[in-house]
Amino acid sequence: MALTLENVSIRLGGHALIAPFSLSIAAGETVTLMGPSGAGKSTLLSFIAGDLEPPFEASGSLSLDGADLAPLPPERRRIGRLFQDDLLFPHLTVAENLAFGMPRKNRAPRIAAALADAGLEGFGDRPPHTLSGGQRARVALLRALLAGPRAMLLDEPFNKLDQELRAAFRGFVFGHIAAEGIPCLMVTHDAADVPENGRVLLLKDTLVTHA
Ligand code: ADP
Ligand code: MG
Repeated sequence: MALTLENVSIRLGGHALIAPFSLSIAAGETVTLMGPSGAGKSTLLSFIAGDLEPPFEASGSLSLDGADLAPLPPERRRIGRLFQDDLLFPHLTVAENLAFGMPRKNRAPRIAAALADAGLEGFGDRPPHTLSGGQRARVALLRALLAGPRAMLLDEPFNKLDQELRAAFRGFVFGHIAAEGIPCLMVTHDAADVPENGRVLLLKDTLVTHA
């Protein structure tokens, strides 16, 4: 499973926001995208997820394992997305949050196993507001992963966590992505977030270059 962008460019209000570039992310690989605020990083993730709207205009091709994604609406792309302040549904329990978007088969045991794996054994029946920020962040990631995504987009996913939690949570996230064998594009401002030996791209002044 590889995520491939070919000659992708994005315009905003008649100006280039991102000049044409190409990128292929391999199965299990996390590529990091860095760059100044307002450079267009989140916009690029929206293009990949399929929910980019005017005034943005994109061109170029996007494929997953060789299959063109352009004709597919966001929900049929099966691309997971995790934002820096991902919200859990407050009126649902942790387990109900995790069940959201999951295939029906073996749901309960898969949820229990995922919670145990995340150090959250027995948290299934709790409402999200009784969890710490770091615990909620883990649940949000599990929810994205359990939905069976074919690729993952992370937008500053560790920002809300304190330093100690960041290190543990990073290992947890990259471990899952590698184990699931899905390509991942991560936006971050913190060089410490970059996985070991991971590729880093810089988006600056419309240009995407290798950092
Ligand atoms: P980044 O994630 O790199 O900080 P964004 O992708 O969020 O940047 O934004 C890229 C540019 O697009 C910014 O200059 C921002 O002000 C602009 N922008 C974001 N959303 C809109 C919108 N709905 N309409 C017009 N401009 C927008
Ligand atoms: Mg952003």
